[in-house]
Amino acid sequence: MPLLEIKDMAVAYGRIEALHGISISVEKGELVTLIGANGAGKTTTMRAISGVRPLSRGSIIFDGQDITKMKAYKRVIAGIVQSPEGRGVFPGMTVQENLDMGHYGRKFESKAAYQETLDKVFELFPRLAERRSQVGGTMSGGEQQMVAIGRALMARPRVLLLDEPSMGLAPMVIQQIFRIISEINATGVTILLVEQNAQQALSRSSRAYILETGEVVKTGPGKELLADPAIKEAYLGVA
Ligand code: ATP
Repeated sequence: MPLLEIKDMAVAYGRIEALHGISISVEKGELVTLIGANGAGKTTTMRAISGVRPLSRGSIIFDGQDITKMKAYKRVIAGIVQSPEGRGVFPGMTVQENLDMGHYGRKFESKAAYQETLDKVFELFPRLAERRSQVGGTMSGGEQQMVAIGRALMARPRVLLLDEPSMGLAPMVIQQIFRIISEINATGVTILLVEQNAQQALSRSSRAYILETGEVVKTGPGKELLADPAIKEAYLGVA
């Protein structure tokens, strides 16, 4: 049984349907990527999974439970945690305070459990440990992305939703962020990733889905899609 299963999901903005019935499944422990051009519906998919956008058709099953109508905050408690597009770091708060906002919806049972999770985040992002008292607004783009991912990890996700973590970052920083995503996945966190950087994302994914104008047009193992001539041409800029 998949950890997360989206069945025939349609989502509309007013009378305009953005997703026309997509089906996606994510097994426990997988890193699954959603690739698509601007406006394909990637962010809409993430919003529907995290519960901030209602479905007009279809269902979302998480760990065997139908969560289609579950409120967004309850999904966080259940372990569906999103690190949003555009990062959303609180600029006036320190790195530590930003990280502490992460577990507000999913409380720790003990101080020791909190400390253990915080230590893991600092292990993944040594830079954040060094800068824990710096305010978010003065961090670089890459560092803010680290804060956003670290904050999501503080909620101890059972599935982590990452929306374009490489957006607006320099190539070197992109490499680093992707390396960390693989590391997080290797610690056992299931990840659903939305990306425009198809090369990096596909090479690191167990499986991927290609989304075009609100429909899944192709799916398969990341490396297989990476070698697909049509995908190379459309998403990797090689003819
Ligand atoms: P991008 O990479 O550019 O963010 P995307 O794949 O994430 O693109 P979405 O943001 O999910 O795409 O948008 C899917 C479609 O829904 C687009 O046609 C977009 O114009 C439309 N859409 C998104 N948000 C709204 C909204 N709030 N109101 C109306 N239409 C919207």
